[in-house]
Amino acid sequence: MVAGLKIEDAKLVTVEEALASTRHQMVERFSKHVNPVLAKVLRLGDWDKRWVKAEGIRVFDDQGAEYLDFVAGFGALSLGHNPTEVLRTLQQASILPMLVGTHPLVGALAENLNRILPSRPDILSFGSGGAEAVEIALKTARAATGKRRFIHCDWSYHGLTFGSLSVGGVEKFGRYFGPLLPHCDRVPFGDLQALEAKLKEGDVAAFIVEPVQAEGGCNVPPKGYLASAQELCNRYGALLILDEIQTGFGRTGRMFAAEHEGVKPDIVTIGKALSAGVIPISASATSANIWDRAYGAEDRCDLMNSTFGGNPIACAAALKALEILVRDGLVEHARQMGEYALQRLQDLKARHKAIRDVRGLGLILGIEFTDAKTSSFILGRMLNKHRIHLSGYDHKPEVIRFEPPLNVQKEEIDRGIEALDETCGKGTVGLAIGAGITAMGRMLRPP
Ligand code: PLP
Repeated sequence: MVAGLKIEDAKLVTVEEALASTRHQMVERFSKHVNPVLAKVLRLGDWDKRWVKAEGIRVFDDQGAEYLDFVAGFGALSLGHNPTEVLRTLQQASILPMLVGTHPLVGALAENLNRILPSRPDILSFGSGGAEAVEIALKTARAATGKRRFIHCDWSYHGLTFGSLSVGGVEKFGRYFGPLLPHCDRVPFGDLQALEAKLKEGDVAAFIVEPVQAEGGCNVPPKGYLASAQELCNRYGALLILDEIQTGFGRTGRMFAAEHEGVKPDIVTIGKALSAGVIPISASATSANIWDRAYGAEDRCDLMNSTFGGNPIACAAALKALEILVRDGLVEHARQMGEYALQRLQDLKARHKAIRDVRGLGLILGIEFTDAKTSSFILGRMLNKHRIHLSGYDHKPEVIRFEPPLNVQKEEIDRGIEALDETCGKGTVGLAIGAGITAMGRMLRPP
């Protein structure tokens, strides 16, 4: 604060005033102080709604209109918006001191995660965001193996910090932020020969991979890929890091996507739905043996540290989110709803030329359109005519994500798909392309 400034002179906006903002005030502030270009894009597509309330899959705007949200916080909101039971635990935990040594919730959460994670990992290092967990995983692999190189996949996405970007498969970031970390090699996703060729070169600390590539366009690898990748890593003395940040906690119809192939990775990264998306928390999980090789000495046990990592409030939310996931059988529900939605999307594909492909696993689904112009038109019409909130995968905007909360109901899936059916009608798509509603597509498409 400026020296001598009085509270009444500072003209600070209070929480109450911010919550009472009109749509116009909200957009103006965002545009002026947060991201002017994004504000313009949102305005163009009438996407800058003033949301006032949300519950489960439903969100409500300031006109009282109800929308269904099939983005679910980019896969984080596994229980939908504002799950009351999880929110209540935040209050329960807030009697504990924040950020003073350890507390009973962090060990309990780690113990529970040990019971469900694919590798029975023993040790969890907590952070806040997903990229932070990826950083921990990469550093752990180097410290444990004494090797330098990382192998990763084309179109992979592991976050936007320097380390996670260095093992990301999207060119654009390197162009603007480079040079990224050296010693990172890319192979095509699903290509075991290419992976083996890189492993053979030696000095590989880890191969990092998403079990289903999310932001790269919802890509499911060929059957057996992950299990064979694990065998190869074992053979050449490299660790396998499985990034389950988006696929974990039931998203693919199993608690973790690794279970589809019985893979037991050396390191697993988790985040997003760990707390049902209610509060940031992430972790990198590994065996006691690997952890010990990396950090098992007094002068090294503090190499992994994060002010907010494993704080009581975040741990309480994660404990409750996991309890609800298991209690309510949401993993199996997600599997069933995912199969149903995929079947219905395949029917749509058979009838609409604009749809090039549909794919996915459980409730991480993608609908690929012929181009980004078409998908951006679809997104706008779905939101503004049908009140269905969808978005493209970050790095493949022509692929629209269909990624609802795991407790989505059949009737809600039907409502989303029937709206898509209408929107994909030849006439409307042709009209959109003709009218050149392309501005958003241009801005969102990677150059
Ligand atoms: N890894 C995967 C697979 C992701 O999907 C994401 C985010 O979408 C991340 C890492 C980065 O997570 P965060 O945005 O919380 O840093």
